[in-house]
Amino acid sequence: MDEQQSRIRISDVGRSLFERRYTNGSSGNISVRLDDGFLITPTNSSLGRLDPAEISKVDFDGKHLGGKPPSKEAFLHLCMFRQRPAEGAVVHLHSTWSVAVSCLADLDPEDVMPAITPYYVMRVGRLPLIEYFPPGDRDLAKAVEAKASEAHSLLLANHGPIVAGKSLDAAVNAIEELEETARLFMILKGLPTRYLSEEQCDALRQRFPS
Ligand code: ZN
Repeated sequence: MDEQQSRIRISDVGRSLFERRYTNGSSGNISVRLDDGFLITPTNSSLGRLDPAEISKVDFDGKHLGGKPPSKEAFLHLCMFRQRPAEGAVVHLHSTWSVAVSCLADLDPEDVMPAITPYYVMRVGRLPLIEYFPPGDRDLAKAVEAKASEAHSLLLANHGPIVAGKSLDAAVNAIEELEETARLFMILKGLPTRYLSEEQCDALRQRFPS
């Protein structure tokens, strides 16, 4: 995809996520890697009403190159791109069920949710928790940078998920799978549940390597 196609694709994906209520208001941001930086949704913009021409362009030092000013959360995307050179896109949402899980007490910071379905294991895999920092805090960037090389999906405590993928479609599919799994996790909470065993997860990873 060239830059112009990526701008259109970001707008289309943003509208789709917004219309299906994966995000609301001006929350959430989407980025796509280019050779000389990355495209990212602008600050204070609704994902439901993006203008492809206004999407921001930022270099890998975080410098604003064009379009409207970038999302204030662009630094999260920059951390993911820097630490994961094979990834082509990043999506961050304040999607309700994932945020609900991110607010629970006593989560395992190395892997927040159990293996509920094979699709979650294949598309998301391990989900580390990033401890709470206020929005825009530089320590949040440091914490994300430190964990990003380990996992392509991270859950920010009391905030929401950020997911990288080889393509925009891969990142969106993974974050949607994460949101639906968070919903299942909350529905099943308190009920006797059979999760996938470690052996079953290993078999999936061998059969469907990411
Ligand atoms: Zn956020």
